[in-house]
Amino acid sequence: MTAAAQGSSTARTYLGSNRDSNRQHNLSTVLQLVHSTAGISRAQLTRTTGLNRSTIAALVAELSQLGLVVESDIDPAQQHGRPSIMIEPGPAILALAVNPDVDVVSVALVSLGGRIVNAVRFHTVRAPSVVEVVNIVSAVYAGMRTALPPDHRVVGAGLAIPGLVEPGGGKVIEAPHLDWRDEPLPALLGDALHLNTVTANDAVVGARAQAAFGAGQGVPDLVYLYGGASGIGGGIISGGHLVKGATGFAGQLGHTHVRTGGAPCSCGSRGCLEAEVTREALIQAIGLPAGETENLEEILLEKLEDGSAGDEVRAVIQEQVSLLAVGLKTVTSLVNPSVVVLGGFLRILVRAAPGALEKALAGFRNHGPWENVKIELAPLGEDPILIGAAELVFEPLLADPAGFLQKQSGS
Ligand SMILES: [Zn+2]
Repeated sequence: MTAAAQGSSTARTYLGSNRDSNRQHNLSTVLQLVHSTAGISRAQLTRTTGLNRSTIAALVAELSQLGLVVESDIDPAQQHGRPSIMIEPGPAILALAVNPDVDVVSVALVSLGGRIVNAVRFHTVRAPSVVEVVNIVSAVYAGMRTALPPDHRVVGAGLAIPGLVEPGGGKVIEAPHLDWRDEPLPALLGDALHLNTVTANDAVVGARAQAAFGAGQGVPDLVYLYGGASGIGGGIISGGHLVKGATGFAGQLGHTHVRTGGAPCSCGSRGCLEAEVTREALIQAIGLPAGETENLEEILLEKLEDGSAGDEVRAVIQEQVSLLAVGLKTVTSLVNPSVVVLGGFLRILVRAAPGALEKALAGFRNHGPWENVKIELAPLGEDPILIGAAELVFEPLLADPAGFLQKQSGS
């Protein structure tokens, strides 16, 4: 593990010579471990960081004083030897996560450890405007704040956008399904909430959440594909780093070409993955009313099981799976991942037709980049996007815990 290697080598190299930056680095290493494991024993922390027990005790005490961790019961997994205290992420430091989409604005408070402590899905009858999003989020956040204990603190807002975001997150360049162009939503939202707001593409933050907590934890070469109401987005993690590209727009996997002369796409092309493989096709196939689309997975699987979904529905699923396989072949040939995580309605496709994706990829899977590639399904719902949006806020806190909070209380 990189963090461990850094922790121990830094401790040896800098101990006594560069105390302050050494302490910051060690605080960061310990907090990252507590955050990514959502709770770790003190003995495990000592083993993983290579730091000695008294150093770990001092670091944990400092993080605890800052409200970032809590020491709790004895590690239940430990059966032999001396019992070890568990160090868990503190509940009092929170990020506000926001994800607007065509029919819903999702707002959540997320604590360290990627725990969603309160989530509201505000349904809209049509795609919300930027001003409507600001109003909805402000009202929901005001309600959430009044319910928080007095010692809890929201340290920033993370905004996940189904579209292109300016590198650095200053504005939304384009969210075609929301009909947004050049919108300064991050600044408007930040002013309304009085919170520092960090913005990124929704599939990219989903990929980060998968890498931090989900099926991709500890996987250095990962492709995440997320299918939502606004199309298909993706994130590529290669060698442990998110692939950004020259202008920050890498990973537009929804625009992978899957059918010559296919359906027109919002990008101006035809036959893109997100134009051909859509959540709407599944909703229409089973004739789901607008208000019930949230339960698409459950209802579709039920209908397939009890036989009330006809051949037409099965044919739609089969075609979507085949086209998804075409897109996956291109993506995996290009980036050679060890895990592909499918989220949103893409996981529904896999569950609705067990084995179909593997079959569609059959011949191809003997090919070099595919050998040993695992296909994993992301957890149900939009949670990875919200957890990933919170990660945007927590990133500078994890890098410099004491400095970040000092700056916060100074501002
Ligand atoms: Zn396209």
